[in-house]
Amino acid sequence: MLVREIRVGSVIFGGSEIVLIAGPCSVENEEMAMLTAKTVVECGAKMLRGGSWKPRTSPYSFQGLGADALKILRKAGNEYNVPVVSEVMSAEQIEIASEYVDMLQVGARNMHNFTLLTEIGRSGMPVLLKRGFMATVEEWLLAAEYILKEGNESVVLCERGIRTFETWTRATLDISAVPLARNSLGLPVIVDPCHAAGRRDLILPLSLAALGAGADGLMIEVHPDPDKALSDGGQSLSLEQFKLYSEKIGAARQSPCRLKEKTRR
Ligand code: PEP
Ligand code: MN
Repeated sequence: MLVREIRVGSVIFGGSEIVLIAGPCSVENEEMAMLTAKTVVECGAKMLRGGSWKPRTSPYSFQGLGADALKILRKAGNEYNVPVVSEVMSAEQIEIASEYVDMLQVGARNMHNFTLLTEIGRSGMPVLLKRGFMATVEEWLLAAEYILKEGNESVVLCERGIRTFETWTRATLDISAVPLARNSLGLPVIVDPCHAAGRRDLILPLSLAALGAGADGLMIEVHPDPDKALSDGGQSLSLEQFKLYSEKIGAARQSPCRLKEKTRR
Protein backbone atom coordinates (compact mmCIF):
# COMPACT_ATOMS: atom_id res chain seq x y z
CA MET A 1 0.00 0.00 0.00
CA LEU A 2 1.36 3.40 -0.96
CA VAL A 3 1.11 6.29 1.47
CA ARG A 4 -0.74 9.42 0.51
CA GLU A 5 0.75 12.86 1.14
CA ILE A 6 -1.50 15.08 3.25
CA ARG A 7 -0.85 18.81 3.14
CA VAL A 8 -1.72 21.10 6.06
CA GLY A 9 -0.58 24.63 5.22
CA SER A 10 3.19 24.49 4.83
CA VAL A 11 3.42 20.98 6.28
CA ILE A 12 3.30 17.68 4.38
CA PHE A 13 2.53 14.46 6.24
CA GLY A 14 3.66 11.29 4.51
CA GLY A 15 6.46 13.05 2.64
CA SER A 16 10.17 12.64 3.14
CA GLU A 17 10.21 14.80 6.31
CA ILE A 18 9.23 13.64 9.78
CA VAL A 19 6.68 16.19 11.02
CA LEU A 20 7.31 17.33 14.59
CA ILE A 21 4.20 18.79 16.25
CA ALA A 22 4.63 20.34 19.69
CA GLY A 23 2.87 22.57 22.18
CA PRO A 24 1.03 22.53 25.46
CA CYS A 25 -1.58 19.95 26.38
CA SER A 26 -3.93 22.87 27.10
CA VAL A 27 -3.61 26.48 26.05
CA GLU A 28 -3.69 28.03 29.54
CA ASN A 29 -3.04 31.66 28.66
CA GLU A 30 -1.46 33.74 25.92
CA GLU A 31 1.89 34.16 27.61
CA MET A 32 2.62 30.43 28.05
CA ALA A 33 1.32 29.61 24.58
CA MET A 34 3.51 32.23 22.87
CA LEU A 35 6.60 31.29 24.85
CA THR A 36 6.11 27.58 24.15
CA ALA A 37 5.45 28.25 20.47
CA LYS A 38 8.59 30.37 20.11
CA THR A 39 10.78 27.69 21.67
CA VAL A 40 9.37 24.68 19.86
CA VAL A 41 9.48 26.36 16.45
CA GLU A 42 13.07 27.47 17.06
CA CYS A 43 13.85 23.83 17.85
CA GLY A 44 12.37 22.53 14.61
CA ALA A 45 8.67 21.90 15.32
CA LYS A 46 6.75 22.39 12.08
CA MET A 47 3.31 22.61 13.63
CA LEU A 48 1.78 23.75 16.94
CA ARG A 49 -0.69 21.87 19.09
CA GLY A 50 -2.77 23.24 21.97
CA GLY A 51 -5.93 22.00 23.65
CA SER A 52 -8.98 24.26 23.67
CA TRP A 53 -11.83 22.00 24.77
CA LYS A 54 -10.30 19.31 26.95
CA PRO A 55 -11.72 15.80 27.34
CA ARG A 56 -10.91 15.41 31.06
CA THR A 57 -11.67 12.25 32.99
CA SER A 58 -12.99 14.30 35.91
CA PRO A 59 -15.58 17.04 35.36
CA TYR A 60 -13.85 18.94 38.20
CA SER A 61 -10.54 19.18 36.32
CA PHE A 62 -9.63 22.15 34.09
CA GLN A 63 -11.84 21.90 31.00
CA GLY A 64 -9.91 24.22 28.68
CA LEU A 65 -10.45 27.82 27.58
CA GLY A 66 -12.59 26.84 24.58
CA ALA A 67 -12.77 29.38 21.77
CA ASP A 68 -10.44 31.78 23.62
CA ALA A 69 -7.74 29.12 23.39
CA LEU A 70 -8.30 28.79 19.63
CA LYS A 71 -7.69 32.52 19.18
CA ILE A 72 -4.46 32.36 21.18
CA LEU A 73 -3.28 29.31 19.25
CA ARG A 74 -3.98 31.05 15.92
CA LYS A 75 -2.05 34.09 17.09
CA ALA A 76 0.92 31.87 18.00
CA GLY A 77 0.73 30.07 14.65
CA ASN A 78 0.68 33.38 12.78
CA GLU A 79 3.52 34.82 14.84
CA TYR A 80 5.81 31.85 14.18
CA ASN A 81 4.45 30.98 10.75
CA VAL A 82 3.36 27.39 11.40
CA PRO A 83 -0.02 25.64 11.07
CA VAL A 84 -1.95 24.73 14.23
CA VAL A 85 -4.04 21.78 15.38
CA SER A 86 -6.61 21.55 18.19
CA GLU A 87 -9.23 19.07 19.31
CA VAL A 88 -12.96 19.37 18.78
CA MET A 89 -15.21 17.28 20.99
CA SER A 90 -18.56 17.85 19.30
CA ALA A 91 -19.96 18.60 15.86
CA GLU A 92 -21.06 22.06 17.08
CA GLN A 93 -17.43 23.02 17.68
CA ILE A 94 -16.29 22.29 14.11
CA GLU A 95 -17.40 25.58 12.59
CA ILE A 96 -15.77 27.88 15.12
CA ALA A 97 -12.62 25.77 15.36
CA SER A 98 -12.25 25.75 11.56
CA GLU A 99 -12.04 29.56 11.62
CA TYR A 100 -8.89 29.40 13.72
CA VAL A 101 -7.05 26.11 13.17
CA ASP A 102 -5.53 24.40 10.14
CA MET A 103 -6.29 20.86 11.32
CA LEU A 104 -8.98 19.41 13.59
CA GLN A 105 -8.04 16.74 16.11
CA VAL A 106 -10.38 13.92 17.05
CA GLY A 107 -9.27 12.67 20.45
CA ALA A 108 -9.03 9.09 21.67
CA ARG A 109 -12.31 9.37 23.58
CA ASN A 110 -14.19 10.57 20.53
CA MET A 111 -12.82 8.12 17.99
CA HIS A 112 -16.13 6.26 18.23
CA ASN A 113 -18.25 9.43 17.89
CA PHE A 114 -19.55 8.64 14.42
CA THR A 115 -21.64 11.80 14.11
CA LEU A 116 -18.53 13.87 14.81
CA LEU A 117 -16.49 11.86 12.28
CA THR A 118 -19.13 12.28 9.59
CA GLU A 119 -19.44 16.02 10.19
CA ILE A 120 -15.68 16.45 10.11
CA GLY A 121 -15.69 14.51 6.86
CA ARG A 122 -18.23 16.94 5.46
CA SER A 123 -16.26 19.96 6.68
CA GLY A 124 -13.35 19.04 4.39
CA MET A 125 -10.89 20.14 7.07
CA PRO A 126 -7.63 18.19 7.54
CA VAL A 127 -8.05 15.82 10.46
CA LEU A 128 -5.73 14.23 13.00
CA LEU A 129 -7.56 11.09 14.08
CA LYS A 130 -6.26 9.63 17.33
CA ARG A 131 -6.74 5.98 18.09
CA GLY A 132 -9.19 5.23 20.90
CA PHE A 133 -7.41 3.62 23.83
CA MET A 134 -9.87 0.71 23.68
CA ALA A 135 -9.97 0.44 19.90
CA THR A 136 -8.47 -2.26 17.71
CA VAL A 137 -6.50 -1.19 14.66
CA GLU A 138 -9.44 -2.25 12.51
CA GLU A 139 -11.91 -0.12 14.50
CA TRP A 140 -9.55 2.84 14.21
CA LEU A 141 -9.27 2.43 10.45
CA LEU A 142 -13.04 2.12 10.13
CA ALA A 143 -13.36 5.38 12.08
CA ALA A 144 -11.07 6.93 9.47
CA GLU A 145 -13.35 5.54 6.76
CA TYR A 146 -16.25 7.55 8.21
CA ILE A 147 -14.28 10.70 7.34
CA LEU A 148 -13.01 9.43 3.97
CA LYS A 149 -16.52 8.33 2.99
CA GLU A 150 -17.68 11.96 3.03
CA GLY A 151 -15.03 12.82 0.45
CA ASN A 152 -12.48 14.20 2.90
CA GLU A 153 -9.15 12.52 2.14
CA SER A 154 -7.03 14.72 4.41
CA VAL A 155 -6.75 12.28 7.27
CA VAL A 156 -3.64 11.67 9.35
CA LEU A 157 -3.73 8.88 11.94
CA CYS A 158 -2.19 9.14 15.41
CA GLU A 159 -1.25 6.16 17.58
CA ARG A 160 -1.36 7.28 21.23
CA GLY A 161 -1.32 4.05 23.20
CA ILE A 162 -3.96 1.58 24.26
CA ARG A 163 -5.19 0.39 27.64
CA THR A 164 -3.50 -2.83 28.81
CA PHE A 165 -2.83 -4.51 32.16
CA GLU A 166 0.40 -2.53 32.53
CA THR A 167 0.28 0.07 35.31
CA TRP A 168 3.74 1.64 35.10
CA THR A 169 2.66 3.60 32.05
CA ARG A 170 -0.59 5.47 31.39
CA ALA A 171 -1.20 3.39 28.24
CA THR A 172 0.88 0.99 26.16
CA LEU A 173 2.26 2.34 22.91
CA ASP A 174 1.23 -0.16 20.25
CA ILE A 175 4.20 0.11 17.95
CA SER A 176 2.95 -2.55 15.54
CA ALA A 177 -0.09 -0.36 14.87
CA VAL A 178 2.16 2.11 13.04
CA PRO A 179 3.12 -0.10 10.07
CA LEU A 180 -0.22 -1.94 10.23
CA ALA A 181 -2.30 1.23 9.88
CA ARG A 182 0.12 2.84 7.47
CA ASN A 183 0.11 -0.14 5.15
CA SER A 184 -3.62 -0.80 5.35
CA LEU A 185 -5.25 2.50 4.47
CA GLY A 186 -2.28 4.28 2.95
CA LEU A 187 -2.67 7.24 5.30
CA PRO A 188 0.25 8.82 7.15
CA VAL A 189 0.60 7.75 10.79
CA ILE A 190 2.15 9.84 13.55
CA VAL A 191 2.84 8.85 17.15
CA ASP A 192 2.03 10.63 20.42
CA PRO A 193 4.40 9.10 22.97
CA CYS A 194 3.29 11.52 25.74
CA HIS A 195 -0.26 10.21 26.18
CA ALA A 196 0.99 6.65 25.67
CA ALA A 197 3.61 6.82 28.41
CA GLY A 198 2.07 9.38 30.75
CA ARG A 199 5.62 10.11 31.93
CA ARG A 200 8.26 12.28 30.40
CA ASP A 201 11.21 9.91 30.81
CA LEU A 202 9.81 7.60 28.12
CA ILE A 203 9.14 10.27 25.50
CA LEU A 204 12.51 9.99 23.76
CA PRO A 205 12.79 6.17 23.66
CA LEU A 206 9.21 5.80 22.44
CA SER A 207 9.81 8.48 19.81
CA LEU A 208 12.86 6.62 18.55
CA ALA A 209 10.84 3.40 18.40
CA ALA A 210 8.12 5.22 16.45
CA LEU A 211 10.62 6.46 13.88
CA GLY A 212 12.08 2.98 13.60
CA ALA A 213 8.60 1.65 12.87
CA GLY A 214 8.13 4.16 10.06
CA ALA A 215 6.03 6.89 11.72
CA ASP A 216 5.51 10.02 9.63
CA GLY A 217 5.61 12.36 12.60
CA LEU A 218 5.57 12.87 16.36
CA MET A 219 3.34 14.94 18.61
CA ILE A 220 4.92 16.15 21.86
CA GLU A 221 3.48 18.04 24.83
CA VAL A 222 5.61 20.94 26.03
CA HIS A 223 5.01 23.37 28.91
CA PRO A 224 7.15 26.22 30.29
CA ASP A 225 6.59 24.93 33.84
CA PRO A 226 5.30 21.34 33.67
CA ASP A 227 4.91 21.01 37.45
CA LYS A 228 2.31 23.79 37.36
CA ALA A 229 0.51 22.63 34.19
CA LEU A 230 -3.28 22.52 34.39
CA SER A 231 -3.27 19.21 32.48
CA ASP A 232 -0.75 16.46 31.73
CA GLY A 233 2.28 18.11 33.35
CA GLY A 234 3.89 14.77 34.19
CA GLN A 235 4.11 13.79 30.55
CA SER A 236 5.14 17.22 29.25
CA LEU A 237 8.69 18.33 28.48
CA SER A 238 9.95 21.67 29.79
CA LEU A 239 11.29 24.12 27.20
CA GLU A 240 14.85 23.14 28.09
CA GLN A 241 14.04 19.43 27.87
CA PHE A 242 12.39 19.95 24.48
CA LYS A 243 15.58 21.56 23.17
CA LEU A 244 17.57 18.45 24.10
CA TYR A 245 14.82 16.18 22.78
CA SER A 246 14.71 17.93 19.42
CA GLU A 247 18.48 17.61 19.01
CA LYS A 248 18.30 13.87 19.61
CA ILE A 249 15.29 13.38 17.39
CA GLY A 250 16.91 15.51 14.70
CA ALA A 251 19.82 13.09 14.63
CA ALA A 252 17.51 10.06 14.62
CA ARG A 253 15.62 11.41 11.62
CA GLN A 254 18.80 10.83 9.61
CA SER A 255 19.34 7.40 11.15
CA PRO A 256 19.72 4.41 8.83
CA CYS A 257 17.34 2.38 11.05
CA ARG A 258 14.43 4.52 9.90
CA LEU A 259 12.34 2.66 7.34
CA LYS A 260 13.16 4.16 4.01
CA GLU A 261 10.48 2.90 1.70
CA LYS A 262 8.45 5.98 0.92
CA THR A 263 6.45 5.25 -2.16
CA ARG A 264 3.64 7.72 -2.76
CA ARG A 265 0.27 7.59 -4.34
C1 PEP B 1 -4.59 15.42 23.60
O1 PEP B 1 -3.89 15.20 22.59
O2 PEP B 1 -4.60 16.49 24.17
C2 PEP B 1 -5.42 14.34 24.15
C3 PEP B 1 -6.38 14.59 25.03
O3 PEP B 1 -5.07 13.11 23.71
P1 PEP B 1 -5.91 11.75 23.69
O4 PEP B 1 -7.21 12.06 23.04
O5 PEP B 1 -5.03 10.85 22.91
O6 PEP B 1 -6.06 11.31 25.13
MN1 MN C 1 -2.66 16.02 27.09
